[in-house]
Amino acid sequence: MEGLWTTQVGSLPKPPALAKARTDFARGRLSHEELVALERKYTEFWVDFQNELGLDIVVDSEMYRGDMATFFAETMAGMEISGLVRSYGNRYYRKPIAVGPLKRVKSFTLDWWQFAQSLTDRPVKGMITGPYTMAEWSYNNYYDTQEEFVLAMAEVLHEEVVDLEKAGAQYIQVDEPAVSTRPEDLPLAIRAMAVVVDGIEATTGTHICYGDFEAIYPKMLEIPVDVIDLEMANSDFDLLDLFSSRAPFTKKLAMGVVDVHSHVIEDKEQVKAGIYKGLQVVPADRLYIDPDCGLKTRTVDEAQAKLAVIVEAVGEVRQELGLDNA
Ligand SMILES: [Zn+2]
Repeated sequence: MEGLWTTQVGSLPKPPALAKARTDFARGRLSHEELVALERKYTEFWVDFQNELGLDIVVDSEMYRGDMATFFAETMAGMEISGLVRSYGNRYYRKPIAVGPLKRVKSFTLDWWQFAQSLTDRPVKGMITGPYTMAEWSYNNYYDTQEEFVLAMAEVLHEEVVDLEKAGAQYIQVDEPAVSTRPEDLPLAIRAMAVVVDGIEATTGTHICYGDFEAIYPKMLEIPVDVIDLEMANSDFDLLDLFSSRAPFTKKLAMGVVDVHSHVIEDKEQVKAGIYKGLQVVPADRLYIDPDCGLKTRTVDEAQAKLAVIVEAVGEVRQELGLDNA
């Protein structure tokens, strides 16, 4: 039997040289071509790293993205980007605004997926931000209702998913980190996801960040994807207790086993204990193992060490269980 596939949720850290290049580009001191050359260089760096480490499903590492909503909004007709908006604390960011009918004018991620896939024989996961989260993290100055906005976004993103599948993506992840923040919107998020993945035969998944799972479990199992990817390490794997006490987890589970908010590199035995706890709820052939969330806020060294401890821990558990992944 095969099982316990390793992957990464999405983002990996931008090395300091790329972070500096993005600032230089924003200030007009670097050309777009020079910036893209560096994004490609570090995409290759991260694909090579994952490949050599032995992750089963590789990510393109999102070197080309600022944040996960703005990147898609910038590339879409009908969306504009606001001036700086203040979030809590002293962080400022730019927020997308719907100003007209949404339309995909070119693909968002396909070039990057193809580039990453050209560098490895392992499957590279297609990754986009989901319609509910895109709308939730934007202002709506065009559609009459939030529902119309979300469903229009879903149509646009569906085109991208179709292109990724045509290009050969075996795994496509539609991230919906915002789904757990407003339980009352879960039915809308489910309808929107159905639009995005309509007719797709690749393995589909969604990543949801930690939030009010008490309120959305087991209803969240109705999100029409194959894999649900969740942060677990940060909350000491207590979601598993919620699942087993309430209703069987009927989908594939991608389980975060290292905390992306901590500099501390987890101990291998601690990661193995988390995996074994997951195995009590979902069998190995329905279980994927990864970090809690994107690793972009960690340093390159920390991200590499966290992925390495995952691969090491999974390798030992596979051996202990007699799993025979190729
Ligand atoms: Zn997350």
